[in-house]
Amino acid sequence: MNLKEYQEINLAAPCGFYCGTCRHYLAREKGLLRERNLKHGCKGCRIQDKNCAWVKKDCALLRKKEIDFCFECKGFPCANLMKLDQRHSINDKVSLIDNSLRIRKIGAKQWLQEQEDKWRCPKCEGNICIIDRECYDCGYEIDWRKETGYLYDKSLPQQ
Ligand SMILES: [Zn+2]
Repeated sequence: MNLKEYQEINLAAPCGFYCGTCRHYLAREKGLLRERNLKHGCKGCRIQDKNCAWVKKDCALLRKKEIDFCFECKGFPCANLMKLDQRHSINDKVSLIDNSLRIRKIGAKQWLQEQEDKWRCPKCEGNICIIDRECYDCGYEIDWRKETGYLYDKSLPQQ
């Protein structure tokens, strides 16, 4: 991938996470870092590059850019990704493995369009943060059952 291609899919993280729903990205984008008590915020996993806090630090293939997405790997999904997937599935109702398969099927650009549409606030069309479960524009708190179609199971451990 060249730099332009890289920038175009900046918000599609290698692991299958949509950076447009992350609090570190949204707080920075919307000038809410101080209000949210966050230090630097993030410009998106790919552009930030050097400090992917999750999968990349344990993966030489991603670090050396031999692959752009986890799904390109022979070992997909590896133990690291499965661990991360499980955490996001439980906490945020988003599966990185499902996302990865979707990106593989329709391509990163189209997937980003889908994600952008999916995570629009039903009240103000602003941006929803799946980590904080709220709209970063109007504060609307999202209802997982309605917004994600996911049957919220209270018996699952909440971390
Ligand atoms: Zn809103």
